Amino acid sequence: MNQTIINTAETIIKEFPKTRTNTDPYVVLITTILSQRSKDENTEKASNQLFQDGWDVYEVAKKDPEELYDKIKPSGMYRQKAKNIVETSKVLIKEYQGKVPPDIEKLIQLPGVGRKTANIVLWISFGIPAMAVDTHVHRIANRLGWINTKTPEKSEYALMEILPSRLWGPINGSMVEFGKAICKPRTPLCSLCPINQSCQYYLSGEEPK
Ligand code: SF4
Repeated sequence: MNQTIINTAETIIKEFPKTRTNTDPYVVLITTILSQRSKDENTEKASNQLFQDGWDVYEVAKKDPEELYDKIKPSGMYRQKAKNIVETSKVLIKEYQGKVPPDIEKLIQLPGVGRKTANIVLWISFGIPAMAVDTHVHRIANRLGWINTKTPEKSEYALMEILPSRLWGPINGSMVEFGKAICKPRTPLCSLCPINQSCQYYLSGEEPK
């Protein structure tokens, strides 16, 4: 493995820490479904409203999706998300005694759950090394020149090849924070970037993609 890449990843994790308060598997799973194409503050609002009355998997599974609309509206795409959340809750009860299974193959069978969501749950709730790749991770890893991939899924496998498993979990949250603060999608703040001397696009003088 390339030690420069590992050192740079460790710098991102150190400089852009991500703290999580709730690690309950069901809450993390549903909150991550809510976070799809949603800003953090909107996800948080929707998640707080959904769980504020102490609803658990059994309570949610009994609802009509429409009963969730008002609570989760801030996260966007609320009709589809409500449907997926109720369906996922029903499957958890029917297949897994109301528990979230710590298994990627089982998680990705749940409605509305893709590899990114599954990997976040595995790491945050179960401490299982898992490489969750969203648009921030995909973009930044390619800008840095760590990988050269076209899709987040390809990035997931490529990053697992070049990073030790102890960094898979922490790098996701930290890269998201780094992507929001510095390595922004359209206008990265390269002159302020603490790792610009390790960045392929900064050093090449090309426009970051
Ligand atoms: S130098 Fe610029 S493009 Fe490279 S990681 Fe930093 S902010 Fe992103």
